[in-house]
Amino acid sequence: MSLMQARQWDKSDPLAAKRDAFYLPPGKIYVDGNSLGPLPLSVKKRLTQVVDHQWGEDLITSWNQHQWITLAQSVGARIAPLIGAKHDEVICADSTSINLFKLLCAALNMRSDRSRILSEKGNFPTDLYMAQGLESLIGNRARLELYEPQDLLDQLDESVAVVMLTQVNFRSGRLHDMAAITKACHKAGALVIWDLAHSAGALPVDLNACEVDMAVGCGYKYLNGGPGAPAFAYVAKRHHSKLFQPLTGWMGHASPFSFETKYTPAKGLNQLLVGTPSVLALSALDAALEVFDSLDMQQLRKKSVAMTQAFVQWIDSDERTADLQLGSPRDPAQRGSQLAWHHPHAYSICQAMIERGVIADFRAPDILRMGFTPLYLSFEDIWLAKETLAEIMAGQVYLRPRFQHRQQVT
Ligand SMILES: *Cc1c(COP(=O)(O)O)cnc(C)c1O
Repeated sequence: MSLMQARQWDKSDPLAAKRDAFYLPPGKIYVDGNSLGPLPLSVKKRLTQVVDHQWGEDLITSWNQHQWITLAQSVGARIAPLIGAKHDEVICADSTSINLFKLLCAALNMRSDRSRILSEKGNFPTDLYMAQGLESLIGNRARLELYEPQDLLDQLDESVAVVMLTQVNFRSGRLHDMAAITKACHKAGALVIWDLAHSAGALPVDLNACEVDMAVGCGYKYLNGGPGAPAFAYVAKRHHSKLFQPLTGWMGHASPFSFETKYTPAKGLNQLLVGTPSVLALSALDAALEVFDSLDMQQLRKKSVAMTQAFVQWIDSDERTADLQLGSPRDPAQRGSQLAWHHPHAYSICQAMIERGVIADFRAPDILRMGFTPLYLSFEDIWLAKETLAEIMAGQVYLRPRFQHRQQVT
C-alpha cells in the first residue's frame, strides 16, 4: 500500500470535485472535520451578501423580505433529507444541549407515568449534564440511569420513559444499531432520542425508516456550518400534536406578534423555538448545506469506509506506529467516520502533528482522534497524514517540551 495506490484511488473518486466547494488552507491536512468543519466557499459568499445587502441595506424589513423569520424551518427542511426525515420534522435553533433539554422534557410529558431516563456511561458529557440538570430541577419526576451499551436494553421495562443515546460515540466512533435499539425501546413503550452530532452529514441516517421518536444534532461538525452553528431538533410527525416543552419563549408562541400575555404553544415543531433566531449563523449553515444538495450519502459512506479502512491498514502495517492502539471498532460497519487511537502521549502527538500541518484532535484521557471527511479529503491527504504521524512516532518528536503544554481547548 503506497502513495501510488492512494493517488490511483483519488483518480477514480466520484466525490473528488466536492473539495472545490471548500476553502482549505495551503499546506494543511484537516482530519478534524468531526469537531469543526472547514469553511465552505458558499458560506463566505452568503455571509457577505447577508451582512452587506440584507442587514446593511434592508435592515429590519429583511425579516419579511429575506425570510429571516422562517430560516429555522427552511434550514431544518434542508437538513431533513440527510437524516431520513420529512421537511417539517426538523427545525434548526439553539445548541444541541438546549435542544436535548427541550426534547427530554417533551418526552417525559408524553410518558407522564414513567420516570426513568436511560443512557450510556460513555455518552457525550453535555447530554448527561443536561439530563442531570433536568433531574435536579424536577426532583423525583425523572431519574437518569447510566449503563454500559451491552447492558442497556436489559433495563427496559414499563418504568422507562425515554432512552437517549448518541448514534456515533464521540470517543471511539462506535456506531449503534439505531433500528434495533429503537425497536426494543418501543416494545417496552419507551421513547427514544438519538443524538446525531457525529452522524448527520457523516453517514446515511434514516430516522423515519427506524421510526425514531426524536433526535438532535450539531451544525458545526460534519455539516460545516461554522463555529457555534445552530443545532437541529427532529420530532416524528406522529408526536407533533402532543409536543410540549417548558422553554416557552415568544418564538414558540402560536402568534408571536400578537404579543398576548398568555402563552399558547405554536402547532408542530415551531413550539420548539425559544428566542429570536440567530440569522447570521442560520444563513451560514444554510449556505454550507448546499454541498449536500446533490449528494448521494451512500457514495459518501463508501468513501468514508474506504478511507478509515485504508488508514487502519497503513497504521497496522507500519512498525513505526506499533505503539498506537486502535480504540475504534475494527469492523467499518460498526463505526462512524472517525478513528480513535490510544497512546499515553496522545496529547503531545496531536500537538506535534498540528505543528507539521496535520490537524487532528485529542480527547482525554489518551485518545488521538481523527475525522475522515470524504467531501474534502483525498486518499493522498490521509496517506500524508499517516506518514507525518509515523515520523513523529519513530522520532519520538512528541517528547519535546513545547508539545507538553495543555491548552484550554483540546
Ligand atoms: C459536539 C456534541 C454536542 C455539542 O453540543 P452543543 O450544545 O451544540 O455544544 C452534543 N452532543 C454530542 C454527542 C456531541 O458530539
